[in-house]
Amino acid sequence: MIPNNSPWIQQLKRTRPVVSLDKNIASDVVIVGGGIAGAATAFFALRNTDKSIILIEAGKVAHGATGHNAGQVASYFERSLSGMIEEFGVEMAVNGQRSIESAWMLLDQIIVEAKLQTPLYKFTGYAGLSSFDQVVSHLKSNRYRVAHNLLQESIMLAENWDRLADVPSEHKSLYTIAPQADLLKLLETNNKDYIAALSYPKGCMNSTLFTEELIGYLMATYKNRFSFYEGSPMKKVELNKNEAVLEVLSHTIRAGKVILCTNGFENFTIQNNVGDEINTKFHHLVDGRIGYMAGYVQPLDQPPVAVSYFSKTKEIIKDPTGESYFYLTRRPYEYGGDTSYNLVCAGGPEKVLPNEAMYVPEESWEDAKNLIADFLRSNYGKHPKEDIEYSFYWHGLMGYTPNGIRRIGPESCNPILLYNLGCNGVGILPSIFGGQRIAKFLNGEDVEKSIFDPQDQVK
Ligand SMILES: Cc1cc2nc3c(=O)[nH]c(=O)nc-3n(C[C@H](O)[C@H](O)[C@H](O)COP(=O)(O)OP(=O)(O)OC[C@H]3O[C@@H](n4cnc5c(N)ncnc54)[C@H](O)[C@@H]3O)c2cc1C
Repeated sequence: MIPNNSPWIQQLKRTRPVVSLDKNIASDVVIVGGGIAGAATAFFALRNTDKSIILIEAGKVAHGATGHNAGQVASYFERSLSGMIEEFGVEMAVNGQRSIESAWMLLDQIIVEAKLQTPLYKFTGYAGLSSFDQVVSHLKSNRYRVAHNLLQESIMLAENWDRLADVPSEHKSLYTIAPQADLLKLLETNNKDYIAALSYPKGCMNSTLFTEELIGYLMATYKNRFSFYEGSPMKKVELNKNEAVLEVLSHTIRAGKVILCTNGFENFTIQNNVGDEINTKFHHLVDGRIGYMAGYVQPLDQPPVAVSYFSKTKEIIKDPTGESYFYLTRRPYEYGGDTSYNLVCAGGPEKVLPNEAMYVPEESWEDAKNLIADFLRSNYGKHPKEDIEYSFYWHGLMGYTPNGIRRIGPESCNPILLYNLGCNGVGILPSIFGGQRIAKFLNGEDVEKSIFDPQDQVK
């Protein structure tokens, strides 16, 4: 059996003991969930408000999706901008995209203010496209990006592509044409299926280390307003008119607001004692998928990069919210105390968890082995399957909201409850943006409507 062994958790050097809740306590705000969303929400809530904050985590900090991701920092959704415009209208969709782009700056702000040492590598990332529909969809979205001053994708099409003449002429100014060999070089592949290459700003970060460091900073900086408990799962939250009451271990936490940064809705119940019952159907719609990854170390002789590969066939899973793809990242990595390595990570295979089924973090990685090996063999030809000695295999749970957009904001049935959740494949920047947005709600600011508003029970 191949165990779940994340390279991000491997780098943790924590000395802090786990402190669990051992008494009844109260605060202005309680945040549930100690992943990057909970930590970022605590950062902005402490920084931008005068509230007292308790953060509780069922297990250990950053051991959920935050500890089992690809660590790629990217400001896009796992669905096309043009599709979002069809659903939400131009203004809302464009503002949503801009919000996620603004999180690059928020991430820098956290790193600078909290003096975090976790490296953030920023670079140009690439994506390879292999079908006509993929190309047209990206060009369509790019039109909106250009028109609304959003970060633009540079798009390069292969001069030998047999569908070049079919690309609608309205998109002509949005791409360049180049020999296929040039774009394959950018994509670091010899697979001639790719007939287009996109480039876009991306980054890489160990979000586990980042979150752990951030919590340490908050504990040291806000001694009088911040308390934090691990090994403290919330079993139930009761929502009253002016306060939430949480059952945690054999104790209670009372707070004016409760913010769920739990990635999903496993293992706890919500009881609303005021107004409509909260529709737990929405919660069941947060669709759990296991994402599988593998990583190997190489000499530190190439720069960091992130490349996504959209193949002709959707061989991973059928994805109703967008395209499925494989992805690869490379970044410097300290391995066995030696800093002369790059870590190359490959991911993409996903398994949908049947409704009501529980994710088991210890589950074997075996299921994805052949898919990742085939991907590396067919796309990253420098490394034939048998040559690779993986140092890490890991998987993590992604909670997908029905429309693929993170839920950030108050619950319409009772605004005492707020959400910053919905992993949706790309969640690092959305979690950080969500943290800042939640702080605005806590401050009582007039917060503009957005695509992130929990809409599930709005009448
Ligand atoms: C395989 C994989 C690859 C990914 N790749 C990327 C990527 O490259 N780039 C990117 O941006 N995003 C990526 N993501 C998504 C990203 O990692 C997540 O969106 C982000 O880490 C979510 O953070 P979170 O804090 O919302 O959730 P989590 O990190 O899962 O944290 C939620 C926390 O809540 C705690 N919790 C749950 N219930 C309770 C309870 N009742 N009481 C107390 N605590 C509770 C959990 O223990 C957990 O620690 C990936 C995810 C996976 C799984």
